[in-house]
Amino acid sequence: MSERPYECVNSLVAHLLDCPNREWKNDKLRTLFSNEEVEEIKLIPIGGPNTKDELVWASTKDGNYSVKSGYKAVLEENYPSTTPTTSNDPRSDKKLWRCIWNLKVTPKVRNFIWKACHNAIASYENLFSRHIHISRVCGRCGEGNESLEHILFFCPFAQAVWRMSGFSYCPRMEGFPGFCKWFYSIREVCLSQNYEEGLCQLSFLCWHLWKARNKWIFSGIKEEPIDVWKASDCAFLEFSSVVRLNPSSHSSRPPNEGTWTPPPNEWIKANCDALWISCSQIAGIASVFRNESGSIVGGSSRRGCFSPVSIAEAEAVRSCLIYAKSNDFMKIFVESDNKSLIHRLNNRSFSDWKSASIERDICSLIPFLRVLSFLL
Ligand SMILES: [Zn+2]
Repeated sequence: MSERPYECVNSLVAHLLDCPNREWKNDKLRTLFSNEEVEEIKLIPIGGPNTKDELVWASTKDGNYSVKSGYKAVLEENYPSTTPTTSNDPRSDKKLWRCIWNLKVTPKVRNFIWKACHNAIASYENLFSRHIHISRVCGRCGEGNESLEHILFFCPFAQAVWRMSGFSYCPRMEGFPGFCKWFYSIREVCLSQNYEEGLCQLSFLCWHLWKARNKWIFSGIKEEPIDVWKASDCAFLEFSSVVRLNPSSHSSRPPNEGTWTPPPNEWIKANCDALWISCSQIAGIASVFRNESGSIVGGSSRRGCFSPVSIAEAEAVRSCLIYAKSNDFMKIFVESDNKSLIHRLNNRSFSDWKSASIERDICSLIPFLRVLSFLL
């Protein structure tokens, strides 16, 4: 973590915020933090001017502490390699294996992921541990033992590939749980966001990193990191088009085309949604406003860094209300296909602490509109 400069000793987080626009001050962040830290900070959602700060316990969904979650957090911190993720060892989790075999990837990629989860890959370190007399140091960088994790994540070459990839993600060595648990946790995240394509694309990238390593060792072919990412992405897109996945973008839920109904006279209906671009943390959020005859009377859209998808969808509703307020749309229905978000807003229950600050801000905007109803 970057150190706090002397002149900022008395600074507050508020000094980094552009409150009226509910954004981080990008220029200021970049002068104080590393690029990696800036990207992490920008993912923190910002509440409105009236949203109060509060402490949350990050190990539960609702942000409230429980003894059970505290016990689990202590175990995970002290014994990361032995602590189960959600059940027992993921390798004995039938769901994981069903997930690997159901992955929409080529058989070679699937086979590779299966072997990688068993650490059955012929890395130098694995060969060395089987008493084969070779050096276990990575021949590409000479900086570490060539384990599976080194090849796929921590070799400077792999790190460069991840940085260039559409994932905007660079795995860290500290506390890394091993390939199998990592894959298992990524799978949980992807499935919770209804985002199976992300898991498939990531499996392709792991496979292509392994392929690049073999090309380099056995054929002396040195590829550039960008070429490995491009080859992986092309293979994914090609395969996806065959299995009719939507490869380039992902809406968190299928659009409800054909079921749109107009609002009553003098009302406006706004449809808002978040669209993920590739599998980075970049999302596009947009709202379209229509009157009783179905004519478009307004719209707003923007791109931003949002993760997880629940934050992007809450942000879409918030942007929609800000637009409605500034355009004097006073009688308005706001339609979103995120059932749990609509439920939370209608009940004013902010049970997901990650998006709670945005949802509270949404509710603070409601009094500015004469009539507002959230619909599914
Ligand atoms: Zn290396």
